Amino acid sequence: MTTLLVCHTCRERVAGYESVHYGSPETGYRDLCSRCFNEEVARLGGLKFEHVQFESVEMMDAAGEPHRFHFSVRLNGEHVALEAFELKDGAPGGYAFEVLGDPEWDLFALMAQLIERMRRALSRRHLERDEGSAGLRIAEFLVRGRIDWDENEDGHLPLLMIDGREVTWEQFGRMLMAYEGWQFKLEIKDASEEV
Ligand SMILES: [Zn+2]
Repeated sequence: MTTLLVCHTCRERVAGYESVHYGSPETGYRDLCSRCFNEEVARLGGLKFEHVQFESVEMMDAAGEPHRFHFSVRLNGEHVALEAFELKDGAPGGYAFEVLGDPEWDLFALMAQLIERMRRALSRRHLERDEGSAGLRIAEFLVRGRIDWDENEDGHLPLLMIDGREVTWEQFGRMLMAYEGWQFKLEIKDASEEV
């Protein structure tokens, strides 16, 4: 279920993932929609910034499965972050992408950059079905993904997001055992970088 909040400034109802809990312990906190949050940050920073609410889009992955992406634009003073994410049970989950730009750049140009990155990522497939204990195997010696929070592990072990699907740490370990004695290289990158 999606939790709806009321924006403190414009009184619009927005989904929790589209809102920002903004403020400080001294001034108190307010829930703002992305637009009101960005406009306030731009005003405080003296930036020429125009918020755009992008419509969701559907894109196919390499297996022909559709994925619906929602977009969020978030200004943080130095950068504007443009994010694309899927929803699982009303909250962001599955594929997620982010690009950073200058707040005074054209947001549509940044969007074109993000869409290109999404296309490249969706055209790749790192895991394939397997009869073995993990149910999946590494297709071609290379895996890209995201490190997420695993509710069941209370944050002690990661939940991996690979090919837009959840892979537990244990499942991934089983997949790696197909390569016992081999070597690997693990490189960690910021969410806004392309891997
Ligand atoms: Zn608002």
